[in-house]
Amino acid sequence: MNIAHWLQRAALQYPDRPAIAHGTDVWCDYRGLAQRAARGATWLRSQGVMPGERVAIFLVNTPEYLPLMWAAWWAGVATVPINAKLHPKEAAWIAAHSGCQRIFCDEAVREAVQAELGDTGHAALALSTFDFLGDDRLALAAIEPRTDADPVWLFYTSGTTGRPKGVNLSMRQLRWACMGYLSMVQSVSPGDAVLHPAPLSHGSGMCHLPYVLHGGVNVVPRSGGFDAAECLALAAHWTRASLFAAPTMVRRLVDVAKTQGRRPQGLATICYGGGPMYLADIEEALAVVGPHFAQIYGQGECPMMITALPRTMINDPSQPRYRERLASVGFAQSMVEVSIRDSEGVELPTGEMGEICVRGDVVMNGYWNQPEATAAAIVDGWLRTGDVGRLDEDGFLTLLDRSKDMIISGGSNIYPREVEEALLTHEAVAEAAVVGRHDAEWGESVVAFVVVHQGVTAQELDAHCLSQIARFKRPKHYRFVSELPKNHYGKVLKTSLRTMDQEGCSA
Ligand code: AMP
Repeated sequence: MNIAHWLQRAALQYPDRPAIAHGTDVWCDYRGLAQRAARGATWLRSQGVMPGERVAIFLVNTPEYLPLMWAAWWAGVATVPINAKLHPKEAAWIAAHSGCQRIFCDEAVREAVQAELGDTGHAALALSTFDFLGDDRLALAAIEPRTDADPVWLFYTSGTTGRPKGVNLSMRQLRWACMGYLSMVQSVSPGDAVLHPAPLSHGSGMCHLPYVLHGGVNVVPRSGGFDAAECLALAAHWTRASLFAAPTMVRRLVDVAKTQGRRPQGLATICYGGGPMYLADIEEALAVVGPHFAQIYGQGECPMMITALPRTMINDPSQPRYRERLASVGFAQSMVEVSIRDSEGVELPTGEMGEICVRGDVVMNGYWNQPEATAAAIVDGWLRTGDVGRLDEDGFLTLLDRSKDMIISGGSNIYPREVEEALLTHEAVAEAAVVGRHDAEWGESVVAFVVVHQGVTAQELDAHCLSQIARFKRPKHYRFVSELPKNHYGKVLKTSLRTMDQEGCSA
């Protein structure tokens, strides 16, 4: 089935209900959203973009974002949403790797993206050229038939091997991800709102699907991103409002709510995840904001969620093991099985720590054009998440660590290898190794250990990184050292670096 049927049905059932809002203004209703999608599909076809092909979306959150996605899907074309915080070079790489026919991007980066794409035949289109969405001279296309296995969304994660990997998601995964949200996070009725302060290219984009299915309103903040005061004002305006928020965003919401001196109004559920939430933080959030929280733990390879900690459990302190559960990431979502396995893939007994593995219809089809990476990630039908955790006898999962090297700063994943590669392109840098440092505000910040063979300042390295990688990935701290700790095989010992960093910080 083509996912666009969800929108077509919403347009028949709730034609006049708001589908997309920009701030407090309705931007289009469901009739209008379906028409934009059907016209957009006609336009894509007129541009030679055929069913089975792909288009990339490299935009901050704008009202046009979702209509573009639905237009592509209506035309049987898969979307490749790209994190707007990435460098144009990185975005162009993803667009080329996924073989996108078009890349829809912000005005400000169009030329840079086009230059990176070169003469590949791929075109970068700026926001000002999206008029086709509202052009009523265009015919309304019929929905292109698709199977459940056809790619719908290629979700590019940063790869531990340095290059991002495209997680291939089809109707099968999106359908069950959506059902998981409805069954464990928040049910949706017509008129319920979902706010999108978090990037639509990631969790927030996935969270919009249940709202289209049931006639809810998708609210894109005027700021195009996350502003805690704006978010709380939008919840009060729209009411019954939910949102996806990384733990850093939850902390900001709590800070702003405290300064306002009263509990925020209009909230349904703040669905948090994407990085560890500390017990003290969620307890404070509950006290300040109220009983509006649900947690999800997932990854691009198993979208939206592997486990969830529903609102009812978070709001039940009478449970004897309440605090233990609050510190966990909940239990397996309805559509998957979770098991803890050792490095050989053997299932471990309850309570033992090992790699978190997951099996079920939400698990990706594989990585786009990377069969070896797919074979390494999905073994005997089980997705190896790279996260380490343990299950208790009631099925609650506690995350103890994650794939050793990844840094999560402000809810965004940063893979050290990418940062190290950027640093190593500077002529003064002989060796570089990057680790995370605990940071009260961002969760973690990036620390770079560098060995140099000629004089260079932290400012110069910072400027260099800015020209190579996304801003949020660049190191916040530099430590200049004469050599890096290594094992017998010459592999840099990251654990030793973390210890050195802690000792340096406390010295
Ligand atoms: P991504 O694929 O970008 O969504 O990143 C997924 C990774 O983020 C997971 O493999 C975990 O390491 C981490 N993560 C996601 N949700 C949670 C959570 N609720 N608590 C702790 N870490 C999380």
